[in-house]
Order: sequence, then structure tokens, then C-alpha cells
Amino acid sequence: MGPHSMNIHEYQGKQVLKEIGAPVSEGIAILKASEARAAAEKLGGPLWVVKSQIHAGGRGKGKFIEESAGEKGGVRLAFSIDEVVENAEQMLGAHLVTEQTSDAGKQVNRLYIEHGSDIERELYISIIINRETSRVSFIASTEGGMDIEGVAHDTPEKVINFDIDPATGFQPHHGRTLSKALGLSGDLAKQCGKLGKILYNGFLAKDMAMLEINPLIVTEDGRLHCLDAKISFDGNALYRHPDIEAMRDETEQDEKEVEAEKYGLSYVALDGNIGCMVNGAGLAMSTMDIIKLYGAEPANFLDVGGGATKENIIAAFKILTSDDKVKGILINIFGGIMKCDIIAQGTVDAVKEVGLKVPLVVRLEGTNVEEGKAIIDNSGLNVISANDLDDAAQKIVKAVNG
Ligand code: ADP
Ligand code: MG
Repeated sequence: MGPHSMNIHEYQGKQVLKEIGAPVSEGIAILKASEARAAAEKLGGPLWVVKSQIHAGGRGKGKFIEESAGEKGGVRLAFSIDEVVENAEQMLGAHLVTEQTSDAGKQVNRLYIEHGSDIERELYISIIINRETSRVSFIASTEGGMDIEGVAHDTPEKVINFDIDPATGFQPHHGRTLSKALGLSGDLAKQCGKLGKILYNGFLAKDMAMLEINPLIVTEDGRLHCLDAKISFDGNALYRHPDIEAMRDETEQDEKEVEAEKYGLSYVALDGNIGCMVNGAGLAMSTMDIIKLYGAEPANFLDVGGGATKENIIAAFKILTSDDKVKGILINIFGGIMKCDIIAQGTVDAVKEVGLKVPLVVRLEGTNVEEGKAIIDNSGLNVISANDLDDAAQKIVKAVNG
């Protein structure tokens, strides 16, 4: 199943944009309110913006839960250094609720203080991978600064979409299409063509999965400028970008995902109540399908991959059992490179170490399957063994649903 894409914060996204040559504001990230004054002084006025750094959009229109954080949202203009400090004191540590967070919100542990821009217009631009055409695709709109899904729903004609042929790359005509989509002419159109090419090349060079600039602004003095940056990277390509990998913020990730990554396991959280330990993406998909076929829903998928050791299996088992949603566990392994006896021994050791409070069904097939089954049968543990995938799915669904 491979690792997911990785999100980064706005301030990191702007670092990346700066590196590839896209215009962004100067800013300083802070973790403590006591750092706000020095940061604001260093940047200089007359206008600053104090921006909450959380992995969720809609911060500007968000609301803090704590009254002490004040009425304003998660992106605040400040007209003096004192105002920067006051806002930093209010916002840091408070919980921001946006349309992309849960009702509990997200705690703001970091602020980005940046130069305020004089905005003439707010535009929208993003780059994604179009799964239908298998190409890198631009989305552009004159309606920036608001939620683009809403714009696309209400006024689809205002959202322009076009693909880039990988053989030609970003051509001057793409620049013209982009400028037209954004309603830009003259020198701004020239800037737009240049920016489009920078973003496209950067998207490829950094193995991005998604790049969204909302808003891209036209400043009062006629410059195109990236005012927000939301970037995610292809998890399967991160190994070749250690500088990007270093931007990972584990506090923004599911704890179980972080733990899984440490052991080279892929973990995907889902909404059901059956925890699944499988090997390989194909088997994960069929396991999910067959659980659904028998009327239940998987709580997650933990793909132990091909070369898992006993330690990996123990770690995987601990991750599965630490989830309160999990009312039953299905281990479904086809032993190829991964040997069934290793899985079996890992499972038995894990159960002995962390206990087993929910039913466990094990289906093993492939290399050393007899040894594996023998280890489980002789363990004295209360494990339900299954002969094939169908049998296994029925047994775990029955055990969970009673
Ligand atoms: P979000 O999308 O999470 O709400 P943004 O970074 O897009 O956060 O900020 C929300 C709005 O705040 C922007 O649409 C823009 O109007 C304003 N804003 C953000 N950064 C600045 C800045 N540096 N200068 C002036 N206004 C800004
Ligand atoms: Mg935005």
C-alpha cells in the first residue's frame, strides 16, 4: 500500500516555494509568544500577519475554542508590534476550529509571522495529479481566497482545468491559458507564465502530490505573490528528499501511523471495527472487500510488507490492539518472502506480551504454512484459525457481530 502523502505546514511550504523561485513574503515561525516581539521587529512593519500553523485549511475563517484567544480567526492582521505580541499570546496553545478540523479543533503550537501584503485581488491556483488522464493538471480560478469546492459547485465555469503533457512540459501556451483563466494581462500575464512554469517544474522536482496556492494575489503595486501555500508530497518518493522528509510534523499525524512508519509498516485508519494485519496492497484490498461482503467494516489496514521480522509483527500487533475501535483482529498473510512461521511466532509472542482482549482470526497461506499453523495450534492461545480468505472473513465478522 506504500506510505501516504505527507503534508507540511504553510511556513514550510513557503520555504519550498522560495527555494524553487516563487514569490512569497518574508516570515518567521515562532513556538513561544516570547519570541513574537523579536520576530516582528526583525521583519519590520507597517503591517504584519500572525498565522496559525496547523495542517488544516480555512484558518482565516476559523474560530478559537478558548475565549481568551479572542473573537478573531486563525489568521490575523496586526498594525503594530504590540498587536503582533498580543495576538501571539492569545493564539498560541489555543484550539482552532475550522471547516477542515473536528469540533475539538487543533491546538496551535506554532505561529508564522509574516509581512502583510496590500491585496488588490485574490486568485486561486493549484496543481494536482489528474488520475483520469495520468497527467499533472492545473486548476485555476479568479475566485481566490475562498473555498474552491464551493466555487466549483456554484459556478463551475469559473474553475479552469488543464493538463500538461509530460513530453513537452510547461509551454508558453500553458502560460497564456493560465493567465487567461486568472484574468491577467500585460505584465501580470508575463509574471503568471513565469510562475506557472516555476510551479510545474517545482512540482515535479520535489515529487509533490498536491500544491495549492489560495490565495495567489495581485498586490496593489502589480506583483503576483503567493500568500498561502498548501503542499503535500508523494510518500513513495520521500526517500529521495531528505530535506522534505525532515519537515514531517509527527504531532499532526495519527500516532499509530507514526509508530507504524518507524517499523516500516503501512497503516491506514478506517471507520469500522475489524483490525486487519495483511501483507501487500492487493491482499489488503481483497481483505477489505470480503469483510464488507460479509457485512462488517475494517477499522484499519496494517500492511506488514514483504520482509517483516518478528519485532515488526509484534509492533504491528501492538498498534492494532491499542485502537479501542478494534473489536476483532484478522491476520491474513500470504507467505511468499514473508514466512508464515515468522508471522505465527510474532503473533504468539505479541499476544503473550500485550494480551488479547478481542477475538483473533488467523489465516496463513504460503511458505512454511504448516510450521506456522503448528506454532499457533501449540501456543495454547485462544486463536481462531481459518483455512482461506472467505472462511477467515466469515469467522471474524461472526466473532465481532456475535
Ligand atoms: P486559510 O486559507 O487557512 O484561511 P490563508 O493563508 O489563505 O489561510 O489566509 C486567509 C486570508 O488572510 C487570505 O485569503 C488573505 O486575505 C489574508 N492573508 C493571509 N496572509 C496575508 C498576508 N501576508 N498579508 C495580507 N493578508 C493576508
Ligand atoms: Mg488559504
